[in-house]
Amino acid sequence: MADKIRVTVWNEFRHERHNEKVKSVYPDGIHEAIAAHLRTQPDFEVRTATLDEPEHGLSQEVVDQTDVLIWWGHVAHHEVQDHVVDRLQKAILEGMGLIVLHSGHYSKIFKRMMGTSCALKWREADENERLWVVAPGHPIVQGLPERIELPQEEMYGEFFDIPEPDTLVFISWFRGGEVFRSGCCYYRGKGKIFYFRPGHETYPTYKNPEIGRVIINAVRWAAPVKGPEITWDNVQPLEKLEK
Ligand code: ZN
Repeated sequence: MADKIRVTVWNEFRHERHNEKVKSVYPDGIHEAIAAHLRTQPDFEVRTATLDEPEHGLSQEVVDQTDVLIWWGHVAHHEVQDHVVDRLQKAILEGMGLIVLHSGHYSKIFKRMMGTSCALKWREADENERLWVVAPGHPIVQGLPERIELPQEEMYGEFFDIPEPDTLVFISWFRGGEVFRSGCCYYRGKGKIFYFRPGHETYPTYKNPEIGRVIINAVRWAAPVKGPEITWDNVQPLEKLEK
């Protein structure tokens, strides 16, 4: 890992170009709103990438220079090429962090890393969302109050078909009655994955400083560590084995 944490913010970037309502909330794209939080951190090196760039902006060179990848997608998950997904999976298993946001629950890379359907309930009804911190000692909640209030969001409800998280950091409540595991940590190989629920494209959620704080903290948590080189396959014993 370099001295700085190298973050790539990936966004599908379709709603913001084709939907006037979304464009008015995120005129420069969701990726730029997220990147604006990250750029306040002097030890982060931030770049963005979008679906319609060659190789979706995720060439082998870019992936090799990424410590943590942030993912926002919704209507075009199927357009992400499988060879790029293979490349990302390999990088994650070798230590790259992955932060999957909101509708990214149905992205190819998240479903690949989870191995389940990642299905959930949803409703767009301008409900308020209350995210409760349920892991108060976790690095992702550094500097947060015990709950985050979002005045309007899309509802996501349980059952969310994901593997049991290694650590559950947030649970969301919605006015309509549903609850949701909205901050989920996983280890996969040498890599770390954080799923974070909020961020429907018609609401200014990514301009909320507490949401920005969570994403900054998640980048630090998910960044690779200089761990040991691992030895695989057939090995010699460390002690003399006598019969
Ligand atoms: Zn949504």
